[in-house]
Amino acid sequence: MENDFIAATGKKVSIGAPVVLWNEKGGFTCPNKRGRQGLAQHDPALNDAPTQAESRYQILDLDRAYRDLTRKVHQLVLHYDVCYSSHHCHQIMKASAFKGSHFYLDLDGTLYQTCDLYWKTNTAPGDDGGGNERAVHVEMANLSSEALAEDSELYRVEKDLYRLKRGRWELDLPEKYRKKLRDPDYKARPARTWGERGYFSRVINGERIRMWDFTEEQYQTLIALCRGIHQLLPRVALKVPYDAKLRRTPLGKIKNPEKFCGVLGHAHVQSGSGGTAMKKHDPGSAFDWGRLRRALAATETTNERR
Ligand SMILES: [Zn+2]
Repeated sequence: MENDFIAATGKKVSIGAPVVLWNEKGGFTCPNKRGRQGLAQHDPALNDAPTQAESRYQILDLDRAYRDLTRKVHQLVLHYDVCYSSHHCHQIMKASAFKGSHFYLDLDGTLYQTCDLYWKTNTAPGDDGGGNERAVHVEMANLSSEALAEDSELYRVEKDLYRLKRGRWELDLPEKYRKKLRDPDYKARPARTWGERGYFSRVINGERIRMWDFTEEQYQTLIALCRGIHQLLPRVALKVPYDAKLRRTPLGKIKNPEKFCGVLGHAHVQSGSGGTAMKKHDPGSAFDWGRLRRALAATETTNERR
């Protein structure tokens, strides 16, 4: 049977969704791990230093490491990867001297865990610079604006990459990425579409983001991941930012994001106001925050009844 657990410092939690760990066949190993400040079960020379040999990333006392990690980490940050697939995302991480992410969530709902959650990955510094110390991260496969020919800058796609096929929108995934999916026959379709045009369009942190939605399989695995992370790291509460007056989750930067305990987006912590960190928009205008919020709230209620 395939694996369905995520792991941190020797602890494992089954999440009921397909997971491939870094040390398994077909897995991806984070190329650029770092030590978290204040955690003491590793060589401090691994904190904010260039990437070192894999053998140097040793966790000394697993029980102490777990206790310290549960105190330190209180956020799961959601990203889109602006990639065709998780395989593509991993190529980008490997080409960088510092980038990484604990998890990649592929189009087909497969979750790849790239390293023990004890380690820090450089995924979202936040405007305050402390964003990676307090968080674990998931990069969800979605091309965002790059799927629209008109908005594409990075890949300069010539045609919109989502096409209507027999009345349903579908991502036209190039062969070289399609054959790397766990199921090469998987058809990536957005979980929701907007009117005739299919894509969503909203302004986030001052910029209009036009993108197609994530897949149904990605939402299902993401909800399972949030529950699993909460079980492993209880300070990551099963909640998302919410504006009670507007009765919705804001899409851009929130107030005092460093204090938030729960699941939030890259755009919630980083609007580019902090100096060095760039302005961010992910997980973007198509992401269904309402669905995630309701699913997590339902979990809380079920747990309380137990
Ligand atoms: Zn991001």
